[in-house]
Parts: sequence; structure tokens; C-alpha cells
Amino acid sequence: MEQCACVERELEKVLHRFVMYGHQSEERLDELLRSVCEIRAQLVAFGVQDADLSVLSQNMTQCCKNIKETVQMLASRHKDIHGSVSKVGKAIDRNFDAEISAVVAETVWDTPERQKYLSESIVEHLYRQGMLSVAEDLCQESGVVIDMSMKQPFLELNRILEALRMQDLRPALEWAVSNRQRLLELNSSLEFKLHRLYFISLLSGGIGNQMEALQYARHFQPFASQHQRDIQILMGSLVYLRHGIENSPYRSLLETNQWAEICNIFTRDACALLGLSVESPLSVSFASGCMALPVLMNIKQVIEQRQCSGVWTHKDELPIEIDLGKKCWYHSVFACPILRQQTSESNPPMKLICGHVISRDALNKLTNAGKLKCPYCPMEQNPSHAKQIYF
Ligand SMILES: [Zn+2]
Repeated sequence: MEQCACVERELEKVLHRFVMYGHQSEERLDELLRSVCEIRAQLVAFGVQDADLSVLSQNMTQCCKNIKETVQMLASRHKDIHGSVSKVGKAIDRNFDAEISAVVAETVWDTPERQKYLSESIVEHLYRQGMLSVAEDLCQESGVVIDMSMKQPFLELNRILEALRMQDLRPALEWAVSNRQRLLELNSSLEFKLHRLYFISLLSGGIGNQMEALQYARHFQPFASQHQRDIQILMGSLVYLRHGIENSPYRSLLETNQWAEICNIFTRDACALLGLSVESPLSVSFASGCMALPVLMNIKQVIEQRQCSGVWTHKDELPIEIDLGKKCWYHSVFACPILRQQTSESNPPMKLICGHVISRDALNKLTNAGKLKCPYCPMEQNPSHAKQIYF
């Protein structure tokens, strides 16, 4: 964070100089314009009166000189700003380490299959962002073939979200109504919240919408038991329709942050329904990398200084645990207490009949003549009775 603040300070200096430069140049240009206008007026006057030609010529020469000086002065100040801009670049170089090759495992992208995964995640990310043409171009250039069935949900999500951002609820409502049953199974209140917002948009139209609002209230019927309180508030607000909801105790219904909220709820519930993660896997990986890289680079340096390079072998495992925050806790992990290794798909955790859990490799190692003695309790048992468990 210290590094960011340092770069930000330099950036603020540049911005300040830009603003100052803008003010100064405007002031000077106004001044020049004024004197040019004066001369023009004198010239016009010269046509009708018998003015002193030498004075006029002197004024014009002075004005030209002023213009030249101003242009030179502004150009040299502009050059000074370039100096400040390049200082920002230097501050970035000084504060951020761009050389990360030391902590990159060379074999990460060495097979075409892995490169395909990378391209696919980038394409998926672009689809999620609604950058369809960029995604198509990347597919063409990288030779990645994306199935239409993978593309379709993102296209639909984007179309609906785009409309929601423009405060158009219809596409989202159509989607929610056609997926009502599945949304209710997920315990989602999306459809009710969409109807509620539609009702509120009718309320904000004033007394002219009274009949329409009353008729629309029928849509609340399926949600009556679950959202009784919300529905009571909405119906209560109708009393104040004539004087305007904004002047009533119900003015909180018109809060604008509800639109951002409905976009989030829609994204969350639609992703859950489609079996997609709410955030793009690429942005999650990128954010995790940003947090983990500085720690890893420090560790790498320490390892090299102490000359114990064998500690970190890059084999699917980091030399230390890096805390990425609760947001990145997707599932628990299990480390085998016997082998002191994190379990994996090839070496999964196994629950013994006594309830203790060890990894399958440990179980195989401890099995002797078809029998296993639990290393903890120590109950003797048949190793084939152990069951794989999933975290
Ligand atoms: Zn046991």
C-alpha cells in the first residue's frame, strides 16, 4: 500500500500542475484576446477618424511581441509537465517489481492443453464482461473453439444486466418468471424484488399510475407469505400517491441504490442457477496473484540468500501458506496428520471406521497383512472399510 500511495502522490503532483497550467494559459489567452480586440477597435476607428498611424503600428508590434512571448512561455511550461509525467513512470518502476520470473514455475504453460485452458478462461472472462467481439477475436487468433452452449448463458446474462442498468426491468422479470420454480428452490427472492422495483417505478410516476399500480400489485400474490412486511409497506405507500411518495414517510422506497443492488442480486442468483461462479475465475486468480506474488518474491529471496533452494520445488505446492482472506475460502483442505501433506485427488482423505481421518497413501503404508491399526485410537480394523471423504 505504501508503494501505491507513493505513486499516487506523484500522480497528484502532475494533476495539480495540469490544472494550474490550464488556468494560467486561459488567463494569458484571455489577456491576449482582449488586446487583439482593442487593436481591432482602433483599426475600425482609424477608418473613420484621422488617428495617429505610428501609435497604431507601435501597438500592433507590441501585441505581436506579447503573443510570441506567451506562446514560448506556455510551450516551456508544457515541457516542464512532461518532466513530472515521466517522474510518475519512474515512481512506478521504483516502487513495483516488474521482474516476477523468479517465482514463476517454468512448466506451468508448457503443454498446449494448459495454454488452451488459459485462453478459455480469458474468453470466458470477456464473455462475462460483455466484451463479445473481443472474445470472438481471441477465439479466432488462439484457435480456441467455444461451444455455443457455453456462450449462450453469458450472452443472456449480459443482455438482461445491460437492460437492468438502464432501469429496464422487463427482460429480468421475464427471465425470473420463467425460472420461478428453480429460483424458489434456491431460496431466491429475485422475482419478488424485481416486481417490487417495478411497482416502485409506477409509484414514482405519481397519481396517474394509481390504477396500474393497484393492478400490478396482483403480482405480489405468490410471495404474500414470505414477504408480507414488504408488501404491506408497498401497499401503504399508495395512500400518499397523491402528494408524491418523495414527500411521504415512504420516501425510502425511492432510494436509487436499489438498482445497483438488484444487479448484484440478479448476477448472484442467475450465476447460482446456471452453475457459474459469481466472479470470473480469471479475476479471482488475478486478484489472488496480486496478493500472493509479493510474499512469494520475498520468500524466494530468503531461500536464495540462505542457499536452500531445494525447499521450493514448484510442485503444485507453495513453500508457505498465503492468507488470501475469507473471500477466497471455497472449501476446506485436509492435511494428512501422518504424512504431513495436503491431500489431493490422487491421495484423498479416508475416514477409518473409528472416525479418524488419514490420507490414502498413509493408510496403504500402515496396512500390514490386510489389517490396519489406527495410529490414533488405536483400533484394529480392515482397511477396506475406510471410506473416502470429500471436502
Ligand atoms: Zn482411530
